[in-house]
Amino acid sequence: MSREIPYKIYLEEKDMPKQWYNVRADMKNKPAPLLNPVTFQPMTFEELRPVFCDELVKQELDDTTPYIDIPQEILDFYKMYRPAPLVRAYCLEKKLDTPAKIYYKFEGNNTSGSHKLNSAIAQAYYAKNQGLKGVTTETGAGQWGTALAMACAYLELDCQVYMVKCSYEQKPFRREVMRTYGAKVTPSPSDTTEIGRKILAEHPGTSGSLGCAISEAVEAASKQEGYRYVLGSVLNQVLLHQTIIGLEAKAAMDQYDIVPDVIIGCAGGGSNLGGLISPFMGEKLRGERDYCFIAVEPASCPSLTRGRFAYDYCDTGMVCPLAKMYTLGSGFIPSASHSGGLRYHGMSPVLSQLYHDGLMEARSVEQTSVFAAAEQFARVEGILPAPESSHAIKVAIDEALRCRETGEEKTILFGLTGTGYFDMYAYEKFNDGKMTDTIPTDEDLAKGFAGLPHVPGAGA
Ligand SMILES: *Cc1c(COP(=O)(O)O)cnc(C)c1O
Repeated sequence: MSREIPYKIYLEEKDMPKQWYNVRADMKNKPAPLLNPVTFQPMTFEELRPVFCDELVKQELDDTTPYIDIPQEILDFYKMYRPAPLVRAYCLEKKLDTPAKIYYKFEGNNTSGSHKLNSAIAQAYYAKNQGLKGVTTETGAGQWGTALAMACAYLELDCQVYMVKCSYEQKPFRREVMRTYGAKVTPSPSDTTEIGRKILAEHPGTSGSLGCAISEAVEAASKQEGYRYVLGSVLNQVLLHQTIIGLEAKAAMDQYDIVPDVIIGCAGGGSNLGGLISPFMGEKLRGERDYCFIAVEPASCPSLTRGRFAYDYCDTGMVCPLAKMYTLGSGFIPSASHSGGLRYHGMSPVLSQLYHDGLMEARSVEQTSVFAAAEQFARVEGILPAPESSHAIKVAIDEALRCRETGEEKTILFGLTGTGYFDMYAYEKFNDGKMTDTIPTDEDLAKGFAGLPHVPGAGA
């Protein structure tokens, strides 16, 4: 019963998922709990409430409920830009002359240009519902800040964004998009917070980092009545919201009896990849079906492939709870690569645990090869991909080329997380032949590991 497969598969509105899927419910080894950075005890609901809004704390701590209803208002918002298309990359397949079948789930169809809006609207909704005035956050490349600004504008919530200084300067248009949606944008480190002033004093002239912007945003939220901090990746709650990606992709594939063999995604903090693979991983965890999952990260920030699986701070200022994850150390500042969204020192605890248990693979790739893949993709499939997303493209192409050699007709699914219109400075460097690859040495990494906290009883 093989029906011809269209170039794009769109779910009908009535078939869109109405619940998120919590993969933790099916994990035998649950991700380790967040720890209080002072007592080293698991963070409780009461301890997390001052930082995150109540409903999100519940989601963060919930390891057992497999399906969680998506509130109607969020479903309605999703309808503005979802379902995202599942695209059969016929043109790329032809160009590569591969027997592999390639599909990608495209999340770039909204103004933020990435998947981040899926969680931004959920987090803003729960904050609004709790009667809060506003939220604070950090942004690296700017996609998360934009997504949150859009969600907050829609719900009439105040939005304050600490933007990593080098992006603030390199991407003035991103900043203007955020301001257009009503957000207040501050370059980080700034002199508006205690931690920002401390970092500036210790590292004058620093171009900032995500970990440092997180510390500032957390401090800003804690000092204003009616504000909470929100985070665009890494946390369990964010991964949960992003499962809309995988649920839609799976529903679309099921309609045509397509079963992927390999599922590939780029991994920054891990939420998009976690969201894409969750429903498939659930089947694997329950022993129903096997898949190969591949996380792709930059060689300049190789948390999974070269990091340690240990408790670490989520931020440079060490004010956030400790998470057990693959990490390069919260003091690790990656080279100024052009994939801002992948420059985080840690990785989602859920993905970290799955990787640790051998349920997922990881590869690291160099940025010049990533941009070469991005251009190849843009020229045949039309979409100008974000540098982050292009990490997944690179490995998808590698896999398809391998199939050409072996003759295997594998079905490959990858996540195309967004578009790269704000990354033209990076494309320019690549086109001019001026892009370089910076790979940290073992000594560079050792410095980051030296800053890992010693957690009693965690064997670290
Ligand atoms: C933020 C971002 C990523 C990284 O996403 P994670 O969920 O943190 O891994 C990838 N691609 C794009 C386009 C992004 O904006």
